[in-house]
Amino acid sequence: MKFLPFALPDIGEDEIAEVVDSLRSGWVTTGPKAKRFEQDFVEFMGGGVEAVAVNSATAGLHLALEAIGIGPGDEVITTTHTFTATAEVIRYMGADPVFVDVSAGTLCIDPDAVVRAITPRTRAIIPVHFGGRAVDMSAILAIARQHGLRVVEDAAHALPTTCGGKLVGTLESDVTVFSFYANKTITTGEGGMLVTRDPAIAARARIMRLHGINRDAFDRFTATAPSWYYEIVAPGFKYNLTDIAASLGIHQLRKANAFRQRRAEIAARYDVALAGLPIICPPHAENGDCHSWHLYVIQLADEAGVSRDAFIERMFAQGIGMSVHYIPLHLHPYWRDTYKLSPEMFPVSQRVYERTCSLPLYTRMTNADVDRVVDAVRVALA
Ligand SMILES: *Cc1c(COP(=O)(O)O)cnc(C)c1O
Repeated sequence: MKFLPFALPDIGEDEIAEVVDSLRSGWVTTGPKAKRFEQDFVEFMGGGVEAVAVNSATAGLHLALEAIGIGPGDEVITTTHTFTATAEVIRYMGADPVFVDVSAGTLCIDPDAVVRAITPRTRAIIPVHFGGRAVDMSAILAIARQHGLRVVEDAAHALPTTCGGKLVGTLESDVTVFSFYANKTITTGEGGMLVTRDPAIAARARIMRLHGINRDAFDRFTATAPSWYYEIVAPGFKYNLTDIAASLGIHQLRKANAFRQRRAEIAARYDVALAGLPIICPPHAENGDCHSWHLYVIQLADEAGVSRDAFIERMFAQGIGMSVHYIPLHLHPYWRDTYKLSPEMFPVSQRVYERTCSLPLYTRMTNADVDRVVDAVRVALA
């Protein structure tokens, strides 16, 4: 029996040729391809923003918090139902995350819980577009405006996702960060993009992305005038995206809408095939918005008669790769112990966690693969 992995990247000949071109060109680190990828990304967003390529979304989130001036003593509100990267960057700045629950209907951060968590120390909110379904950003942005808070969107799942008809990345938040990790909707192996409408944030992120140098290496080495001189204006980081990675990104981005189309088809095929089974299918986007379908997250209904752990074991036994999104942060020892968190504080996230798992969903799956997963689900539930 052939194993069907949980996720696989979709890398074509265009990406491979572009990488080879970079290798032959002599520019293997940040150079013309990274710049082109940034320009292409701005175009994809429809203009009106700046894009700063980085070597991970984690790096992008870190740079975002640095650029908006988060520091020790500050609180940043985020969801417990996410990957640890969303919260760890808050600790990088010496600030404290304040975790709140998600809404059962969206699996995204609950705006009412955000309001309840605001204190005089609160400086920012990091919503996560869980699975590729948009957060209710109009609610989050209204709260932020009312309380004078900054908003950094963790859009690691959300390319392309729309919210109120607008692409995530073009909303009124301060910064939006995308991930190009291996299993995301487009990939550069490792990589990310920080997007902002604020030129000051973009400028700060560009400086901090590369050691706090006041010019990019590319500018230094390609300028026509002698340009050995540079100045360090801050103790920056090493977060630049290589041209090898950007070579992948340039072509992946061109396919992003076609990829999304295929992901949506697979999600729809699952929806139809799973209807009638004791399974809660993932929440859809609202009002005709675009869901990136990064993840297909199911929950076992009470009638399922099988535990989540046993269900996953039965799927693996049939050669189907599975995952869980997420083990909520309040259950991980570091977050639990540092912030004295308990499951009762996050009843929705906890309840979802106990019954959730994610089915394979990626563009290289055939319809036969999808049907095989559905057959395995039926067997696992029997
Ligand atoms: C993948 C992911 C990240 C981190 O992305 P990297 O590019 O691997 O740093 C952050 N937040 C969420 C919700 C993610 O899924």
